[in-house]
Amino acid sequence: MKSELFYKQPKTLLNKGSGFLSGYSHSLNPYTGCAFGCSYCYVRQMPVATFRKEEWGTWVDIKQGSAELLDKELTKAKKKGKVTIFMSSSTDPYQPIEYKEKVTRSLLEVMVENIPDFLFVQTRSPLVSRDIDLLLLLKDQARVSMTIETDREDIRKHFSPDAPPITARLKALQLLAEAGVPTQATIAPVLPSTEEFPEKLVKLVNRVCVDDYFMGDGSGGKRTKNLGVLSLYKDLGLEEWYNPSAYRIVYDRLRKVFTNDQVYVSQEGFLP
Ligand code: SF4
Repeated sequence: MKSELFYKQPKTLLNKGSGFLSGYSHSLNPYTGCAFGCSYCYVRQMPVATFRKEEWGTWVDIKQGSAELLDKELTKAKKKGKVTIFMSSSTDPYQPIEYKEKVTRSLLEVMVENIPDFLFVQTRSPLVSRDIDLLLLLKDQARVSMTIETDREDIRKHFSPDAPPITARLKALQLLAEAGVPTQATIAPVLPSTEEFPEKLVKLVNRVCVDDYFMGDGSGGKRTKNLGVLSLYKDLGLEEWYNPSAYRIVYDRLRKVFTNDQVYVSQEGFLP
C-alpha cells in the first residue's frame, strides 16, 4: 500500500514513558503513522490514528528537524536523571520512508554523541541493519528487538501484507548478532507458527519475548476486539490461536530450545 507523506515540524520529540512503557523514562517516535499498516496494530484505536480521516497505514508524517530537537531534549532530560528510551511505541522507526529520509539514523547520530542510559529499538524492518555502525557505538546500552510474529510467510501476508518478509527479518537479526549488537526476537503478537519456529530463532538470538493482544495491546484485548481481528483468524480456520492462552503454545515450544532466563513474556521482555 502506498502511503501519503507529510512533512511536519514537531514541538517535542521525547515523550514520557507511561502505561506499558512505564519502565522507560521516554518514548521516541521519528514518524507519526506507519506504512506497514498491520491489521492488528493497536495504534489504529488510539487518538493519533482516530483523529485522522485517512486509514491507518495510508499516511506518514515525517518529523523534520528531529535531530536538533532531540539533541536539546536529551541534554535537558539527562540533567534531570536517568534517560531510558523506547523507540518506537506508535510507529516503526525503520519503515520504508526511512531509506530516503534517514530521520531515525539522524536520531541515532545524536545519541551516539550523547549516549542515553538505555535505548530499546523496536522494529520489524531489516533496514535496521543499515545502522549497525551507530548501534555498535551505543555498546550494551542499546538493544534491537525485531518483531517476528510467526515463521509462516502465508500467515504474515494474511495479517500484515505490507510488512517486510520474515526471511528478511531473520537475515537482519543474523547481521546484527554477528556484528555484536544486542538483540532479541519479539514474537508479538503471537500468530500461528510452526513447531520449528524456535529452532530458527535459537541460531540467531539468545533472548526472545512472547506477547499477545490480551497482555500487550494496552486494553486487555479490547482494542484488538474492536478492530475485528478475530475474523482474520476465522478466514483461515485458526480461531484456536485467538485466545489468552494461545501464547502458551509458542512459549512451551520455545522453552524446549531456550532456557528459562532467555524467554520473556509480555512487558518484561520490553524493559530496559
Ligand atoms: S509496524 Fe508496528 S506501528 Fe507499524 S502498523 Fe505494524 S504494529 Fe503498527
